[in-house]
Amino acid sequence: MAETFPETTKQKLSDRLRFYEDIGIGLFYRERNSGSVQESQAVEGAPQLEQKVKEPYLPKKETKVAPVMPATAPPSGKFELPPTDSGPSLFEATNKIENDTLLKIREDLGDCKRCRLHKTRHSIVFGDGNPKAQLVFIGEGPGADEDEQGLPFVGRAGKLLTQMIEAMGLQRKDVYICNVVKCRPPQNRPPEKDEVAECSPFLFRQIDTIAPKVIVCLGATAAKTILNTERGISQFRGEWLEFRGRKLMVTYHPAYLLRNPAAKSDVWKDLQKVMTELGLTVKRKSS
Ligand code: SF4
Repeated sequence: MAETFPETTKQKLSDRLRFYEDIGIGLFYRERNSGSVQESQAVEGAPQLEQKVKEPYLPKKETKVAPVMPATAPPSGKFELPPTDSGPSLFEATNKIENDTLLKIREDLGDCKRCRLHKTRHSIVFGDGNPKAQLVFIGEGPGADEDEQGLPFVGRAGKLLTQMIEAMGLQRKDVYICNVVKCRPPQNRPPEKDEVAECSPFLFRQIDTIAPKVIVCLGATAAKTILNTERGISQFRGEWLEFRGRKLMVTYHPAYLLRNPAAKSDVWKDLQKVMTELGLTVKRKSS
């Protein structure tokens, strides 16, 4: 008798398969005996479709964090972050606060009016996810859907980010997602320097408190803010950087991927590096 799935499951499966196709993993088959859907054994590195990570997830083994060097390290062997263009980075300028908590940070933020973005916002989008996550994603700022719902990455780009997270074998509740600024810039323009300066200390407190093993910066604005550079994202995308004792990976923003689907395979390569660092396993070709 033909097996049927609920519509929501079918839709999820269809979205997931489409995402895998977009990142260059195209061959799937349905295993007759078990009736479950498996990825093609011919595709090495393809994650198991139904792999679930129970929270809290832990890396399988500790790996050395510092010093982190990209493959393109200069002959001196010392990789330098993209040069700081204007004094100390905001991150360096923000001291760690002992016994900080996300709740306290949110309370300190309050009904924030520290910058002009408060005038046009509907919601402060503080961040969402596992407060002890080992993986934190940082975007640029809330968009219209996020402003309306008060949650990060819930629009079309957010749906794609969810697919990326699930392709890694995780769920959104396993990770923490936030933005450089917590209020939507008008017309989705990039946040301005003074707005970032006012808002980012709260982001850095969130990072310190969550203490993730890996941070993934989504897009040029988040990366340039954290690295305090004007260099193009292509100069450091996909390379491991060190950021206050944590590993930092810069990759493209999901909104960019919606406009440029061909870049999904680059992002998948970046995320595979993150998976390796976190000890997340992918199903390999069986011998
Ligand atoms: S963007 Fe940040 S600093 Fe500006 S008003 Fe919103 S919460 Fe406050």
